[in-house]
Amino acid sequence: MIASRLTRFVTSALVVPFLVVGCQVGQQSQVPDLSSNPSGPAAVRRAAESITAAGMRSRISFLASDELRGRETTSPGQETAAAYIVGEYTRLGLLPRGDSSSYIQRYPFVPRPMQVGPPMPVLAPNVVAVLPGSDPALRNEYVVLSAHMDHVGVGRPVRGDSIYNGADDNASGTAALLEVAQALSSLPIAPRRSILFLNVSGEEHGLLGSEAFTRNPTVPVSSIVADINVDMISRNSPDSIVVIGKEYSSLGELVNAVGAQHPEIRLTVSDDIWPEERFFFRSDHYNFARLEIPSLFFFAGVHNDYHQPSDEVSRIDPDKAARVARLIFYSVQEIANAPGRPKWNPAGLAEVRSMTRGR
Ligand SMILES: [Zn+2]
Repeated sequence: MIASRLTRFVTSALVVPFLVVGCQVGQQSQVPDLSSNPSGPAAVRRAAESITAAGMRSRISFLASDELRGRETTSPGQETAAAYIVGEYTRLGLLPRGDSSSYIQRYPFVPRPMQVGPPMPVLAPNVVAVLPGSDPALRNEYVVLSAHMDHVGVGRPVRGDSIYNGADDNASGTAALLEVAQALSSLPIAPRRSILFLNVSGEEHGLLGSEAFTRNPTVPVSSIVADINVDMISRNSPDSIVVIGKEYSSLGELVNAVGAQHPEIRLTVSDDIWPEERFFFRSDHYNFARLEIPSLFFFAGVHNDYHQPSDEVSRIDPDKAARVARLIFYSVQEIANAPGRPKWNPAGLAEVRSMTRGR
């Protein structure tokens, strides 16, 4: 999550109880029943249950360890994070979809704020991997699942700690992509459409990795049916998750219905309860929405440790993070198995166009 000049007001939002706004549990829905999954409901449930709090905690603990020194883009710690993700996708047998048959896409990164003198671009990594779809007609379409792996590195010490670990922001979303990738890979038959896992860098400098991917996509833009973005999912109310962008497309009804179909996940799917914070502009789904690709943003909200050295593993809720990852696992499958692509609501598309025009 990138900082905003509004961030100083953020703590006031925290003390407001988590309002259940726009909860549409029980609403009629055209979402296909889970039995339409090629693997069948029992296998899908087993795969979902393979996403655990212990798995999330272990992945977040590595990514947010002091050894990775806050994962600043182009730093050795950030490269270590990328190498770990590549290792996991390799182990799961996903296909590389970065540059020249590798999992890595490199893009020229100009650090901000710029130093004195001409900018010195260096190459920063995105990690790109694909689980091929099982349907011969639909496997050339992609559901993108994105999360940024970078954070803000080492900075001004606070109470003697200068490492900004970024456990919630965004080791939590990175871990969710890995757990969902593992769960989807375990299915006997893959979902119908392909799933593209995108771990970007440069997010904290202005969504630069996702901008680079959407400017130079490794699959055709027209083949991307949706972006599901995950950024900061392991804090705040244990029984709610905010999903930003629900009002713009059919993806909103889909995720509401998935939440209603899975009471065992114990998460209320909430609308954006902080519209004044303009979170729509502050994570990587924005670059997909700019291209008019229907998008959702899973986000549990900011907190007092946001962009502080105290965003540590000890403060996260790994059980909540695992349940959010299960909700994402089911949602991604519904999108991938649906007969048709997600559709914009006309008013939603008009609003997104007005928000992204000229940007
Ligand atoms: Zn951030």
